[in-house]
Amino acid sequence: MTRVLVVGAGFGGIGAAIELVRNGHTDVTVLEKGDEIGGVWRANTYPGAACDIPSVLYSYSYAPNPHWSSRFSGQAEIQAYLKKVAQEYGVYDRIRFGVTVTDADFDADRGVWEVRTSDGVFEADVFVPALGQLSRPATPAIPGAATFQGEQWHSAEWRHDAPLAGKRVAVIGTGASAIQIVPNIQPSVERLTLFQRSAPHISPKPERIYSRAHHAMFEKVPVTQQVERLLWWLFMEYNTIGLTGSRFTTATVAWIPKLYRRFGIKDPVLREQMTPDEPPGAKRALFASNYYPALEADNASVVTERIEEITPAGVRTADGVVHEVDVIVWCTGFTATEFVSTINVRGLGGKDLQEYWASTGARAYLGLTVPNFPNLFLMYGPNTNVGAGSIIYMHEGQAAYIRSAVDYLSTTGTSYVDVREDVEEAFDAEVQRAMQHTVWLKGDSWYRDKNGRVTTNWPMRLLEYRRRTRTFDPSDYETRVVHHDQPRLAHPARS
Ligand code: NAP
Repeated sequence: MTRVLVVGAGFGGIGAAIELVRNGHTDVTVLEKGDEIGGVWRANTYPGAACDIPSVLYSYSYAPNPHWSSRFSGQAEIQAYLKKVAQEYGVYDRIRFGVTVTDADFDADRGVWEVRTSDGVFEADVFVPALGQLSRPATPAIPGAATFQGEQWHSAEWRHDAPLAGKRVAVIGTGASAIQIVPNIQPSVERLTLFQRSAPHISPKPERIYSRAHHAMFEKVPVTQQVERLLWWLFMEYNTIGLTGSRFTTATVAWIPKLYRRFGIKDPVLREQMTPDEPPGAKRALFASNYYPALEADNASVVTERIEEITPAGVRTADGVVHEVDVIVWCTGFTATEFVSTINVRGLGGKDLQEYWASTGARAYLGLTVPNFPNLFLMYGPNTNVGAGSIIYMHEGQAAYIRSAVDYLSTTGTSYVDVREDVEEAFDAEVQRAMQHTVWLKGDSWYRDKNGRVTTNWPMRLLEYRRRTRTFDPSDYETRVVHHDQPRLAHPARS
């Protein structure tokens, strides 16, 4: 039986584990540093945390949930869904919580990965890091941050023990997290000051609370939910065509945020501040119907001056003004382009994954496999993020590919597969050629690494990604059989 070790119990890791288990590969273990399932849906508990992709699409295709309370579900409901599905597919019990992975070394003589963790050494034939692109909070190195006398925290590390009611609060950043936090804290804080470096394109959120009639319909006539899923999928794919090069397609949807600014913001000064410089889609497109109204409230203000320094009393901007606050909430995103950076991964000949990527930029064949790192399969690896759509759709392609590779290993007796360098190079060249047509090169966002290369996003239609990941093709790989008589190492006992 091929032993698979997955790291990360978010939608990616759990999706991979389910796909393996439901296809008969039952020697699967999931290591998770946290104390519960969920990944970003465990970590992000800020007020208003919800998904801005409709739940009918932001769910596994094989596990529809007729009981979503609304079209855009909240964090707790999404986390509960993931837990329930993991339990139903017999994966929840395979998760070992509170285990931090530090190193993974490939032993070519034995054809196995040795994975060092806070709980001892694990051995696996196939190693699947599923660490996410948005799991490591990023806080900018603004001078003086350590001198601030009040409380400060990152949006993904919400301090529920420090209520904001009656406080003067600075929110720094205007991405997907900030636009959910702002309207949810604004009514209770004394003063909300939003520090905006650049304005995002925002469209109204077509929210819908699902009634009992909806639930009954989705349950008794499941095709109705499938139709809603299909329509959203088509809408997202249509948007993806725009983001990846079609000016016509972009033009047919770009009027929505423009019109929303025109009619959704009464104050002309605020409207001017909220008008983006970058084309729609260069940064992630956002959906919110309560953000602009919250900013128009009497206790809210927007500061567009550059932040120069954090002082003990607050935030000093380039115009010399010190904005005095009690709390700073950093909504400044994640280190999305530092893939697998929390584990020291060494492949054939001790080759270090981070050193390799430092010279090339993060890249992998289909976002999944890297030459000289045999039997390593990345979930949500380089160039697999979606500009529009559900990441779970991409995860399902990756999971199917990994399962197909494990099928191959277990049925042929092959010890390991290593993607051919020419195959990976040709793929990367194709991805970068396609990238030249995308809007992502026209803006500055977490999609781009420090050299400006877009290492996060998939630059073609999402359907194309699913077509390419349908099955593992061994001709793209060097294959090896190794013979040794050393016993298999059992996983450490649960602590
Ligand atoms: P983000 O989109 O990366 O936004 C970070 C914000 O911080 C940006 O507005 C950025 O300004 C600002 N910033 C960074 N450094 C700054 C500095 N030195 N001074 C001032 N401002 C600074 O982060 P996020 O909002 O946490 O979202 C990250 C991703 O998580 C999203 O794009 C999305 O994929 C995911 N997410 C999804 C949902 C959902 O509903 N599905 C919800 C939350 C998050 P610039 O714009 O000028 O760079």
